[in-house]
Amino acid sequence: RVQEELEGDTAPGSTADGHAVALLANIGTAADAGRAAATPAEGVGLFRTEVLFLERSSAPTLEEQTAVYAEVLGAFAGRGGGDKVVVRTLDAGADKPLAFVTQPGEENPALGVRGYRLVRREPELLRTQLAALAQAAKDTGTSPWVMAPMIATAQEAADFAALAHEVGLTEPCKVGVMVEVPSAALRAADLLRHVDFVSLGTNDLAQYTMATDRLRGSLADLLDPWQPAVLDLVAATARAGAELGKPVGVCGESAADPLMALVLAGLGITSLSMSPGALPAVRHLLRRHDLDTCRAAADAALAATSASEAREAVRALVDPAVRDA
Ligand code: PEP
Ligand code: MG
Repeated sequence: RVQEELEGDTAPGSTADGHAVALLANIGTAADAGRAAATPAEGVGLFRTEVLFLERSSAPTLEEQTAVYAEVLGAFAGRGGGDKVVVRTLDAGADKPLAFVTQPGEENPALGVRGYRLVRREPELLRTQLAALAQAAKDTGTSPWVMAPMIATAQEAADFAALAHEVGLTEPCKVGVMVEVPSAALRAADLLRHVDFVSLGTNDLAQYTMATDRLRGSLADLLDPWQPAVLDLVAATARAGAELGKPVGVCGESAADPLMALVLAGLGITSLSMSPGALPAVRHLLRRHDLDTCRAAADAALAATSASEAREAVRALVDPAVRDA
């Protein structure tokens, strides 16, 4: 019954006192987009386009990509419940190997040519992808947001934005980058001067902050997004966004943890993107706490000196009637 009640709740993401935090969906395919559009998600916060490139011996053509992007954008075009779609450019390498781009024998693929860095070797791959997205935006009459993964420097953010603008992804489209490398979080304000928004990828941010392979289950305690060092970097990024008046989202798995969602709202994160199945519980907990409580949760988490202490400190602030339901 609680589940039914949660799923019947279609209101936009908000704290009890009306502070909006957009609740968005992570998707990987056009079919996912159709399914997500049928939920109360306020749009897509992360479209992982690499799914389109998997299990192929060469990159999809401009026309093939345009068709898929148009389908995804079309699923949300003019949608009353929210029409934002954030498309991430190809994030190949490391845990997402691609037959035609991954270099065999790379010793440390997670630290190698992955994500945006591929532009050094295969610039046409990124240019074609952005051109396909620009064409799909035109065909559907929509204004997608686009972002690059694995950005480490402000120069990379500037170069990505220049290329996106060059192919026609200009206002009202938005160009941003992911913050999932500690250098990007530490200098988030520098990055944000070149782009319209950033989105925190807490899966990789935890991996690179804690020097812990995200695929290594036996080290999950180190990979925990509640680790104080990871929370510090999330907080620093949120602060930079607030200073520059630009959106800072979270699209890593941590956004799907309802307790963490309170912390993130308290830190000033403007949107949370997750697999659609996680949305009802996050929406529910957020709506039952006001912004001051979220800020207290953020302060309590940042004051903790371990992941478990942070989690417990926030848990203690949550309305017990809600927590134990
Ligand atoms: C992340 O790193 O948190 C993220 C959202 O991207 P991915 O999981 O696809 O690397
Ligand atoms: Mg990532």
